[in-house]
Amino acid sequence: MAKKENSTSYCNFCGRTNKDVNFLISGMSAEICDSCAEQAYQIVKESLEAKKKSSLGIDKSQLPDPRTIKEYLDGYIIGQDNAKRYLAVAVYNHYKRILQGKDDNIEIEKSNIILVGPTGTGKTLLARTIAKLLKVPFAIVDATVLTEAGYVGEDIESILTRLLQASDYDVASAERGIVFIDEIDKIARKGDNPSITRDVSGEGVQQGLLKLLEGSIVNVPPQGGRKHPDQKMIAVDTKNILFICGGAFDGIERKIAQRLNTMVVGYASSKNNAQVDKENLLQYVAPQDLKSYGLIPEIIGRLPILTYLDALDRSALRRILTEPKNSIIKQYVKLFGMDGVSLTFDEDVLEYIVDKAIEYKLGARGLRAIVENIMMDSMFNIPSTGEKELHITKEYAREQLEKSEMIKLKNSH
Ligand code: ADP
Repeated sequence: MAKKENSTSYCNFCGRTNKDVNFLISGMSAEICDSCAEQAYQIVKESLEAKKKSSLGIDKSQLPDPRTIKEYLDGYIIGQDNAKRYLAVAVYNHYKRILQGKDDNIEIEKSNIILVGPTGTGKTLLARTIAKLLKVPFAIVDATVLTEAGYVGEDIESILTRLLQASDYDVASAERGIVFIDEIDKIARKGDNPSITRDVSGEGVQQGLLKLLEGSIVNVPPQGGRKHPDQKMIAVDTKNILFICGGAFDGIERKIAQRLNTMVVGYASSKNNAQVDKENLLQYVAPQDLKSYGLIPEIIGRLPILTYLDALDRSALRRILTEPKNSIIKQYVKLFGMDGVSLTFDEDVLEYIVDKAIEYKLGARGLRAIVENIMMDSMFNIPSTGEKELHITKEYAREQLEKSEMIKLKNSH
């Protein structure tokens, strides 16, 4: 490109001649004046910014505040107030961090989260619900399948393959997504690891994970796995990906109790001791307990937000059946409603379902399976009978459940 001084030149965009503008820039067969070039630059800049914004799905004014996030979570998840509050604040700060201008030197650090709580208490549901609210790509991965490269299992990078798939391979959008890593406790270093070779499922995986958590550019196989050795890698920057880790950390209460005991002895304060709620030690979980459990300090450092989930008691299970916006019972009422059938339950049916979930030790996860078994016959028959009402009594529920294959379900857990 060169500046042209030819007296007959004019801008192919606005038609002005070189006399009416500061200067013209000429290409192979066209010219553009300085003001059109400037306008074009603005258009390019704005559309790139709009693209960036759309890949996040929200701008600052649309970012829900922590209270709004918590209220939204309340619509879908019963209880777990502490975890909801921590998550709401962490997610809010995380997106503020992404949206921040680069106008000063204060860089807000990433706030990855770790949720500690018994299985089936809502850890995945919390992460999934937040992702839905923020309209960002969301991927769930199970830490137990991850191994160091070269070993049987999945490479750490496969975590990002999932996220890319969830975003339809829109890299910019994946780079602002949320990843839920389940069963993080299963990659804890085992002190008594009998393996004489390498600890493929423990510390090595933690080291690999660290790279993702701390934010780096990772080459990701788009189809995942080692089945496609020729695939072209996609570079993904994990700096703005929010990682939420979840784990049951079975037995961590013992580590918490040990720590609390030494602390109390140290202070020699019987008053402190009395305040410890021994029934629910998880509420005192601290980073050093995760370390005693076998997570390496570097990983713990990269998961600065630590919170816990309560075990679900009877009343929580009962509420889960009917209260969430898409509760199991509401889903069945809707399913039948679509056939013009009004479905109702006796209150003692709901109590019975909860009793069975507790009896089978299936927790919240079992509620759906139990309801499914109770409703199976009706779902099969009603659409062809033309009945308009279906009322479920406890006798009917019990009969159906006993008839069903619950024994199998019970034994498989
Ligand atoms: P976790 O990840 O803690 O093992 P999940 O979030 O996968 O457990 O929960 C399993 C299922 O149980 C969910 O899909 C949901 O139907 C139900 N559930 C668990 N906890 C809750 C809760 N606190 N409120 C509502 N539903 C819940």
